[in-house]
Amino acid sequence: MTLHGLLKERFPHLRAGEYFDFARHTSIGCGGTAAVWAAPGSGEELAVVLAFLREKGIPHCFLGAGANVLPRDGFFDGVVFRFTAFKELKAEGRLLRVGAGVTGGALLRFAEENCLAGAEFLTGIPMTAGGAIAMNAGVQEGHMGELVSRVFCASAGRCFPLTARECAFGEKDSIFLHEDIAVLGAELMLKESFPEEIARRRCYFRTKRRALPKGRSMGCVFVNLEGESAGALIERCGLKGLRFGGARVSEIHANFILNEGGTSADVSALIGLVKERVREETGILLREEVRRLP
Ligand SMILES: Cc1cc2nc3c(=O)[nH]c(=O)nc-3n(C[C@H](O)[C@H](O)[C@H](O)COP(=O)(O)OP(=O)(O)OC[C@H]3O[C@@H](n4cnc5c(N)ncnc54)[C@H](O)[C@@H]3O)c2cc1C
Repeated sequence: MTLHGLLKERFPHLRAGEYFDFARHTSIGCGGTAAVWAAPGSGEELAVVLAFLREKGIPHCFLGAGANVLPRDGFFDGVVFRFTAFKELKAEGRLLRVGAGVTGGALLRFAEENCLAGAEFLTGIPMTAGGAIAMNAGVQEGHMGELVSRVFCASAGRCFPLTARECAFGEKDSIFLHEDIAVLGAELMLKESFPEEIARRRCYFRTKRRALPKGRSMGCVFVNLEGESAGALIERCGLKGLRFGGARVSEIHANFILNEGGTSADVSALIGLVKERVREETGILLREEVRRLP
C-alpha cells in the first residue's frame, strides 16, 4: 500500500494528497517531490497523525510559505504538513491571535484595521505566521519572538501552549527548529496606535526593502555576525557573482543566492563554496540561516 493509501485508511477525514512538488511551493523554486502532503484541520488531528507517523517510523516535515527553505532533490518518502487550515485572526484588546497559516500580508492588514501596531517591521517578509515564529523572522528593528506572548503547539500525541521564554527565541532560531513541535498559532502582544501611523511605518519598511534582489531566492542564506553583516563579509571576499550550475551569488546583495534554473544540489554546492572561501580568507565559519528540508 502507498503511504497516501495508508494515511487515508487510518485517517479518512484528513485532507491529504499524493506527490508534493517542493519546487512549486518554495521561493527558491527547486527540490524534489514528497510522497504525501497533508493539511490537518485542527491541532488535535495533527497530534494524532504525528503519533501515528512516529509509531510507524515515517518521516515528515513542516512547511509554511517555503520562503526560507532549501528542499532536497529527489524523492522524499514521507509527509509534508501544511498549515492552510490555521487561518484564525482575532483581536482582543492589545492581544492578536493568529493562526500558523496566516500570511504576513494578511496579519499586517488585520493589525492595521484593528489599530494594533508593533508588527510593521514584518512588512514585505514572505512568510506564514508559523514559519516566522519558527525562524524568529525579522529585521534590525524587531523580531517575531519579541511580539509573542504564547504559542499554541502540537507534537506527537498532544497539544500544548508555550510561553515566549519556553520558545527559546534566538538569532534566526527557536525551539521549533530543534524539536519536533508544530506551531498551530500564537498570541501576539501589540500596541494601540492610529491606522495612519501604522500605514506610515509599513510604508517606511516597504521602501527599505526595494533594493533587495529580485528573482528566486531564500532571502539571506547566512546569519549575520556580531558587528558585520554576512553579506558584507561575503562581498569583502570577492564572491559576488560566484556561480555553481544554475545558482549564483547575487551582485546586489551577497547574502542572497539566486536560483536561475538550477537544482537544490547546485544551490547547496554554492552555499558550501561560499562558506569554504570565507573561511579560507577570514577564518570565520558562516552559520546557515536557511533550513534544509526534509
Ligand atoms: C525575498 C526574501 C526576503 C526575505 N527577507 C527576510 C527578512 O527580511 N527577514 C527574515 O527574517 N527573513 C527573511 N526571509 C526569509 C523568510 O521570509 C522568513 O524566514 C520567513 O519567516 C519564513 O516563513 P515561511 O512561512 O516561509 O517558513 P518556511 O520557509 O516554510 O519554513 C521555515 C522553517 O520553519 C519551519 N516551519 C514552518 N512552518 C512551521 C510551523 N507551523 N510549525 C513549526 N515549524 C514550521 C520549517 O520546517 C522550516 O524549518 C526572506 C525570504 C525571501 C525569499
